[in-house]
Amino acid sequence: MNPELIDLRSDTITRPTPGMRKAMAEADVGDDVFGEDPTVNLLQRKVAELLGKPAALYVPSGSMSNQLAIKSQTLPGDEIIVEQDAHIFHYETAAPSMLSGVQMYVVPGEHGIMRAEQLAPTVRSAAYYLPRTALICLENTHNRAGGTIYPLEEIQRIRDFAKAVGVKMHLDGARLWNAWVATGIHPREYAQYFDSVSVCFSKGLGAPVGSALVGSEELIHRARRFRKIFGGGMRQAGIIAAGALYALEHHIERLHEDHEKARVFASRIADTRHLRVDLESVQTNIVIIDIAHTGKTTTDALDLLASNNVLMSDSGYTSIRAVTHMDVTMQQVRSAADVLATTLGD
Ligand SMILES: *Cc1c(COP(=O)(O)O)cnc(C)c1O
Repeated sequence: MNPELIDLRSDTITRPTPGMRKAMAEADVGDDVFGEDPTVNLLQRKVAELLGKPAALYVPSGSMSNQLAIKSQTLPGDEIIVEQDAHIFHYETAAPSMLSGVQMYVVPGEHGIMRAEQLAPTVRSAAYYLPRTALICLENTHNRAGGTIYPLEEIQRIRDFAKAVGVKMHLDGARLWNAWVATGIHPREYAQYFDSVSVCFSKGLGAPVGSALVGSEELIHRARRFRKIFGGGMRQAGIIAAGALYALEHHIERLHEDHEKARVFASRIADTRHLRVDLESVQTNIVIIDIAHTGKTTTDALDLLASNNVLMSDSGYTSIRAVTHMDVTMQQVRSAADVLATTLGD
């Protein structure tokens, strides 16, 4: 890759560090379809413990993890409630309809946050001709809303409501680590309100592959069977699980650096004439930039940035996205902000 290139498309583009590669190379392995990979088993125990749940399952991707949570907790013909900018709704290729035969009830949130009062009218009554509401899915931090953090009090209120009406709760916690570092609220505190939680190791934590689903023994037992059905049974997966274990041990605390980089980037952009950033939504490592006033399409804007060696991604019809991560320095983030400000901002 061009060494001058500053890649802010996603926090998934990171490469394993030398220490991580060493841990992976030396990992103790076995056949995980037989449940005999010691490194995978260790990772699963650690993640379950960290999230305060009885069991965990290591899976190839965050999408698979979310889909296993849906598949394991619904029946075909059910309905699940998701926020209108949810990853599950936008970026998982309509998988809930294909893999689980469920439909999504989409609720508009503010900064990706749905309030308990909004959910009351969306949960269906028991009439035989209505779909059955099976699952409420929240996302923390919220990707498309710009890395926003779900307030714990709102989660508690939604949980109280969900319990009263007998609906289960799933958390898409691909970036729950970022919420932890930004708020000091432990993942276990968040997880206690959910029946299932998905977490990713391949985002800000910098591992090359994998996510985990956590929940009750019974839920994880069902999910393991569906993982095999979906083609996600892996053999000597300890090689990649070792990267995830290394990331859990070494790369969580440093996430605050990514948050600081995002704040610096956002404040530089907020000062420009034609670009808009909602600074209130810049809470972790994602910055969404509204380019509507530049008169450019997102494709043209991204091409222009790329021709100046800055890569970003699109995030809706008139907005683009910058994500900070381990493989960009503060200096590179400042340079990228300058490029964006001078090419499109003024
Ligand atoms: C990245 C992401 C996922 C899962 O992505 P994969 O690419 O399938 O690993 C799920 N939810 C959110 C919020 C994400 O940002």
